[in-house]
Amino acid sequence: MILLDGAATAKSIKLEIASEVEALKKSGQKVPHLAAVLVGDDGASMTYVGSKVKSCEEVGFVSTLITRPSNTTEEELLQIVDQLNRDPEIDGYIIQLPLPKHINEHKILLAIDPEKDVDGFHPVNVGKMMLNLPCFLPATPAGIIELLRRYQVPTEGKHAVVIGRSHIVGLPVSVLLQRNAYPGNCTVTIAHSRTSDLKSLCKSADIVIAALGKPEFVTGEMIKEGAVVVDVGITRVVDASKKSGFRIAGDVNFAEVAEKCSFITPVPGGVGPMTIVSLLMNTLSAVKNHR
Ligand code: NAD
Repeated sequence: MILLDGAATAKSIKLEIASEVEALKKSGQKVPHLAAVLVGDDGASMTYVGSKVKSCEEVGFVSTLITRPSNTTEEELLQIVDQLNRDPEIDGYIIQLPLPKHINEHKILLAIDPEKDVDGFHPVNVGKMMLNLPCFLPATPAGIIELLRRYQVPTEGKHAVVIGRSHIVGLPVSVLLQRNAYPGNCTVTIAHSRTSDLKSLCKSADIVIAALGKPEFVTGEMIKEGAVVVDVGITRVVDASKKSGFRIAGDVNFAEVAEKCSFITPVPGGVGPMTIVSLLMNTLSAVKNHR
């Protein structure tokens, strides 16, 4: 079994990005500037945004964090989006999701300039991804693909089962895995909450991408010998033995599944760090595109 070490891979990609930033600086060019907008005080969102900002600093980007209280109106957020769209200093920005219930996420998403949409969630970028045109790919699926590439995991002709059909993970990763490219050329099955006999389906898979958000859902008996397993899940599970009072659990029962796998991602330290570097890579390409 080979561990798909997202933390180590992300570290080396960050060094590559940092040297590109250094080269930009040396040639007198502007360094990438990523902005993040956080509305409200959701603990997990604050942690995610915090690590994105920290990663920007690590690679030499400029970062701006815009925080607003949870009673911010939709109109006020649209104004922030408009300012970010028009600000030539900002190369790319993200609106951290979820937003408070009274704000229509779709309305905000549609207002983002697709050329600054480094999360790759705007329909223009989603459409371009479907057509295999240059675009910002959503960070988590792009991070998974990059991890498979860096470990030279064989994908051509393989049967990939993606568990979960969300717009940010399951659906886009299934699109990327079926592309005529490497990593890609898989035959993809998308499973979801209404799929029957998921166990047999998974058992027939050469590659399983678990993105359903149910701790340790994928067990050893669901996986065939030699399969590749990518665990996207991040769930906080109550754990009194931890100082924080919780631990982070993936969607895969690692102890049972790892011994059957050819490759597997750990949680934490697998897909999570790769998601952040994908965002950095998108921001770097935003700078190049704007030129
Ligand atoms: P979501 O809730 O939007 O989607 C979950 C999907 O799983 C749905 O399509 C649903 O149909 C499917 N599903 C639910 N129960 C199922 C079942 N019993 N059998 C089969 N399918 C089932 O979640 P999401 O935003 O796609 O996130 C999924 C998980 O990945 C979460 O734990 C989330 O925290 C995590 N996540 C991690 C990263 C990362 O960087 N590692 C990024 C995004 C999301």
